[in-house]
Amino acid sequence: MGDEIWFTEQQTEDLRLGVRVSGVLHRARSAFQDVVVVDTPSHGHLLALDGFVQTTDLDEHCYHEMLAHVAASSHDMPRRALVIGGGDGGLVRELLRHGLAVDLCEIDEAVVTASRRYFPALAGSLDDPRVTVHIADGIAFVAQQRQAFDLIYIDSSEPVGPGEGLFVPAFYRTAAAALRPGGMVVAQSESPFYNLDVLRRVRAGMAAGFPDVRTYLGPVPTYPSGTWSYTVASLGPDPSAPVRPAPAGLRFYTPDVHRAAFALPAFLREALA
Ligand code: SAM
Repeated sequence: MGDEIWFTEQQTEDLRLGVRVSGVLHRARSAFQDVVVVDTPSHGHLLALDGFVQTTDLDEHCYHEMLAHVAASSHDMPRRALVIGGGDGGLVRELLRHGLAVDLCEIDEAVVTASRRYFPALAGSLDDPRVTVHIADGIAFVAQQRQAFDLIYIDSSEPVGPGEGLFVPAFYRTAAAALRPGGMVVAQSESPFYNLDVLRRVRAGMAAGFPDVRTYLGPVPTYPSGTWSYTVASLGPDPSAPVRPAPAGLRFYTPDVHRAAFALPAFLREALA
């Protein structure tokens, strides 16, 4: 493998993910993190922040569809959503399928700029007239909102650096205040195999501000362990029960997948009890 280039992600102390690289498209240090985009024969374009895979052309829809449509389809009439993080635009693209007005609050403009250039199928959504992009810290942004959103999504990077403050109880309490009655907050809550501590922290943090906190799972091949968790806190609707049909054109989410995603394996049910 002399002159081959591989992108390697350190997923745990003793485990790495390696993806063969056919070209380095972008590499820069922003005010917040390393922003890298590589082209790969197997996964298309791959975005990494501080060495962590964020999104790839191959499997981004597995993540963005399961993050977006579970809460959006469980709410009978969502009109406005907030995305914290999500600078690649994939989640915004999915939320627009519900006809929502979407505010995106991304702390690092360098991620938006790189995504517009190298992930047009995701970041093209940011030019939709229903979308407002704020380049700001989501923690401060949410604290200024009162009963403004039906859905709030925390599509953040790992709970380190700028993302750390998005995983604490105080933040979820401000998110509850920013929701309209009957609203829901959804957070990506990392791997149930490798990051059980983070998942527990998200659930405990949400429990401080919400009566109903539920975790569901979905596969994302390039994320650590290939199984990802999402945690949803609701002020009313049952997040496990779709009440509206799925938008057209989806490649992963279906109402049956939605319902099944809440059936947790025995080890996880026990660990989260
Ligand atoms: N889908 C990816 C995942 O689950 O790993 C995350 C997508 S997106 C690229 C993550 C974004 O969260 C990054 O662009 C990062 O800059 C942003 N972010 C981290 N902390 C933030 C904060 N406090 N406020 C707003 N955006 C933040």
